[in-house]
Amino acid sequence: PVKRSQEIQLTRMELPICEDEQAIMEAISENSVVVICGETGSGKTTQLPQFLYEAGFGNPESDNPGIIGITQPRRVAAMSMSKRVAQELSLDDQRVSYQIRYDATVSSKTVIKFMTDGVLLRELSGDFLLSKYSAIIIDEAHERSLNTDILIGVISRVLRLRKELSEEDKSKIKPLKIIIMSATLRISDFTQNRRLFDIPPPVINVNARQYPVSIHFNKRTPHTNYVTEAFKKICKIHTRLPRGGILVFMTGQNEISILCKKLRNKFPSDRTHRNRTVIREEPPIDEHNEYIHKGYSDRIVDHEIEELAMGENDQDYLDHHDDFDTNSEDSITEFENDVLDNEYAGPLYVLPLYSLLSTRAQMRVFEPPPEGARLCVVATNIAETSLTIPGVTYVVDCGKVKERRYNASTGVQSYVIDWISKASADQRAGRAGRTGPGHCYRLYSSAVFNDQFQQFTVPEIHRTPIEGVILQMKAMNIDTVSNFPFPTPPDRDQLKKAEKLLRYIGALDENNQITSLGRAMATFPLAPRFSKMLIIGQQHECLPYVIAIVSALSVGDPFIKDYHLDGTDSDDGGDEDELVDYVQTKELNEIQKEIIFKKERRKLMRKKFFDVQKKHSGLDPTSDILKFLNVVGAYEYSGGNEKFCEDNFVRTKAMQEIHKLRGQITKIVQANCQEVDVCIDPKMKPPSAIQLEALRQIIAAGFIDQVAMRKDLVDGMTKTFSSTRGIAYSTMWTNEDVFIHPSSVLYHGKPPDFVVYQELQRTNKVWMKGITIIKPE
Ligand code: ADP
Ligand code: MG
Repeated sequence: PVKRSQEIQLTRMELPICEDEQAIMEAISENSVVVICGETGSGKTTQLPQFLYEAGFGNPESDNPGIIGITQPRRVAAMSMSKRVAQELSLDDQRVSYQIRYDATVSSKTVIKFMTDGVLLRELSGDFLLSKYSAIIIDEAHERSLNTDILIGVISRVLRLRKELSEEDKSKIKPLKIIIMSATLRISDFTQNRRLFDIPPPVINVNARQYPVSIHFNKRTPHTNYVTEAFKKICKIHTRLPRGGILVFMTGQNEISILCKKLRNKFPSDRTHRNRTVIREEPPIDEHNEYIHKGYSDRIVDHEIEELAMGENDQDYLDHHDDFDTNSEDSITEFENDVLDNEYAGPLYVLPLYSLLSTRAQMRVFEPPPEGARLCVVATNIAETSLTIPGVTYVVDCGKVKERRYNASTGVQSYVIDWISKASADQRAGRAGRTGPGHCYRLYSSAVFNDQFQQFTVPEIHRTPIEGVILQMKAMNIDTVSNFPFPTPPDRDQLKKAEKLLRYIGALDENNQITSLGRAMATFPLAPRFSKMLIIGQQHECLPYVIAIVSALSVGDPFIKDYHLDGTDSDDGGDEDELVDYVQTKELNEIQKEIIFKKERRKLMRKKFFDVQKKHSGLDPTSDILKFLNVVGAYEYSGGNEKFCEDNFVRTKAMQEIHKLRGQITKIVQANCQEVDVCIDPKMKPPSAIQLEALRQIIAAGFIDQVAMRKDLVDGMTKTFSSTRGIAYSTMWTNEDVFIHPSSVLYHGKPPDFVVYQELQRTNKVWMKGITIIKPE
């Protein structure tokens, strides 16, 4: 018997999918695979698990006693959706749970489990039958994330096995049900792929009452400054158009913060702020703004990560990769002065929305805005299909998305902001038509849309390193990866490169069969090279350090990049905010004093930042990676408090994740290698000289294929250098010269002969990041 509150009962009734409950449940009972297509917001994610639950799935006494599993490409969706479903069913989080890499609420009582697709993939290598599940819902399949694609392939095999085994003895194991859910109709890669499913699964289209959305293209396409364009557009909508929420698509956290700040200044949501104060030291702290204030300190920047294996979707991290932001605040400010003051506009309730925002802050988009205020959510493409924001009438779409591009043959990756696909643009527009007719303002011209937008987004498997999944698949005894039923198979070169790399690090033998080392590596939820470092890390009692290093490398550089220290990119020229107020109030002297004061403070902060970097690099800076080790050790030593993070310019959220991952890896090591004795010692001593040497070797072994040699040595001449600036290195994967990134601790020293690097990244040049010196014998 399900208990639902009156209010929830009523909102549920309005969801289009509830009309199809019976048809859906019939299809599921008659078929092992069912595909459900339905517009974002039609109720797929929140309702399907409940349909299954009410039909007896997850009930030990029923025919389908196993739990109901739902996968999500994004962590935030896994967490927030499990909360929502728990609430709708009036069950606690032990029964309706989630599991993501760092965190879980699952228990022995769990009946509905939301998880990232990476989590389920890892479970598969331990239990290929997925015997604890009765149904698996694969959500957001249209996104075509790497893990989702692989999961669908693997599960098609699990399905057969479960069927065969249950036919042998039904009392032992029951068949499994698969539900694939998509927000678009582009599903032929799943339904028409005979290698995947020999009987094409039935497709149920949820008839979402979608209201018409008028599309307005810009006459011209602004080349760089779409943040400014967006700001202007929002101002116009808010001052001139009737009520209705605004949803704005931007590409990353930095842009979102800038835009939110500007909007909040222009249209304070609390009326008492309408007479703007001249200098505001603190962001407003009315109720809904308080977390944005907090957001200042854990603003996340430059978060490249090397976590390529079975971790969570990259998307979570992309939001924070702000190396290449082209948008500045300048031109927004210009425009700000133009908006006529006699155009009355009520308060605007501005909320940011991106993956790493705390769940609590994310949940606010579901709450109604304060009385009389208009809701304006500024989001990444997380709002494209994963989360549905109620009450949106206007969509402002910059037409861009941030993506990691990866060149499989050279290993060089770059983060680019590029045009979305036509399909994405339509999804975004569709967000305006959920509750009534809407409008979508595209900040690009129809010519650009027609000529430069691809029809569909390229599946992730074609643009990302796949060695992690290949190893995982080998560990599931899927030997011939080339025969695997990928929805869209990766190209041969990419498969070959992945296998080559796995051979290099000893995970595969010369016949590409998994080795025992490879099997051991596959037990860790990490990129294969990190797993290798752990496995060889037992010398000289180095394991606790290696665990800390690998955790930090998996989460990504925890340091805040210096120029973001006070949240602005501008080196000088003061804060635009103040300049606006300066013009408006003409209180020159006071203002000037303030500006000078702020500049001085920024200078001081910057000096402190570099001092911290030096401190963590040690007296002998030989490795960026050992710098991470040092800061992780110091953080634990401090008891893991926020003050430490602030003083040391590291991101609190990253440090917390590193802490959690350390705990998890320690547990896995304890479980797998009974002979070693590891625990997390909060007062871990810094490594000795011998240990440091060993750690450098372990790091080198993990990155054995990523050695770079100074170019003059390759050429046979030895020069002497006074700095690393402009000194070229050669690597084995690419013919291009590569350089030491300015953020490296090695940048200011002499250029070493040999280094290993953690990653190559292209901006104007190809840069090495995460560098460690290899000391010659
Ligand atoms: P779909 O998966 O088809 O895109 P969802 O099941 O995610 O649809 O959403 C259905 C409805 O539930 C939407 O109108 C959405 O706004 C609402 N909803 C989802 N999560 C919450 C929440 N945490 N609080 C309130 N409403 C929510
Ligand atoms: Mg959904």
